[in-house]
Amino acid sequence: AKSAGGNRYELADPEADARAITRHGLTTALPAALERGEFFIEYQPLVHLGDGSVRGAEALVRWLHPQHGVIGPDRFIPLAEHTGLIVPLGRWVLEESVRQARLWEGRVLDGGATGPLRVNVNLSPMQLTHPGLVSDTVDILEREGLEPGGLCLEVTESALIGADDDLLKPLRRLAEMGVDIALDDFGTGYSNLANLRRLPVSVLKLDRSFTQSMQHFPADPVDLKIVEGIVSLAHSLDLAVTVEGVETGAQADQLRELGCDTAQGWYYARPGPPDQLHELALADAIS
Ligand code: C2E
Ligand code: CA
Ligand code: CA
Ligand code: CA
Repeated sequence: AKSAGGNRYELADPEADARAITRHGLTTALPAALERGEFFIEYQPLVHLGDGSVRGAEALVRWLHPQHGVIGPDRFIPLAEHTGLIVPLGRWVLEESVRQARLWEGRVLDGGATGPLRVNVNLSPMQLTHPGLVSDTVDILEREGLEPGGLCLEVTESALIGADDDLLKPLRRLAEMGVDIALDDFGTGYSNLANLRRLPVSVLKLDRSFTQSMQHFPADPVDLKIVEGIVSLAHSLDLAVTVEGVETGAQADQLRELGCDTAQGWYYARPGPPDQLHELALADAIS
């Protein structure tokens, strides 16, 4: 694995900017920030654990605030959800990410990579219930010329707990078109594993807490058994397993041994500018 390239942004110390700016201040500044183009996206590589190749990236939004510097999504996404701004903001993230995936496609295929790079985009619960989700997604894919298979939408496990058919219908439509749906932060909720069969998902993203438990050697044997069980259940349902928060080579080895398919984490690369991704992918293609 290679480490991240030079010019990436560091997130400001969340404690420090919390002191400098109130929730209310941030909330009221959000709409104008979207209009002025103060949001930007960093992309964190998704790496195939079997052969180490870069397969795509997760899009992670940030806010470059004119006074307070870079603000991380944990601070403003909840505010955007509260006010409903998450719908237009999420649409912008989707559009920008799909456009970026299309750009990578040209670059990596010309450079000799084996396949296109896919992009993962996070969806908030409010976007799921917004009636424009399917049509917006179709429009964006068509306008940018990206195959639906180049896009994976990440939905948290908690957003789908107890989901009824009305909530699942748009996700099902998207899945039928070929868009992948990933169940994010898996293992943190209380979802019934048998319930997975009902959900139109093709990827499980194991929460970082599982990866963290592999930090110590020897890892807790119960944790290992749990991950092993989740992976075998996922595979028997034809779901791929992605692990997040991989920070060390030892964790990567352990998770590979447990049968996980794809990994994401600082060990491979921090979230970074879009060029980081195709550079890593091309470096892989020639090595
Ligand atoms: P998430 O979807 O679980 O994204 C993974 C988070 O883990 C990211 O934090 C990422 O930077 C961080 N991370 C990646 N590798 C490592 C690692 O090795 N160690 C550790 N400790 N952390 C790692 P980030 O970028 O601050 O995003 C936080 C959350 O904000 C995301 O969690 C997601 O829920 C939300 N978010 C980000 N972008 C969007 C977006 O466009 N729309 C929506 N709705 N939510 C977003
Ligand atoms: Ca995610
Ligand atoms: Ca996650
Ligand atoms: Ca998370």
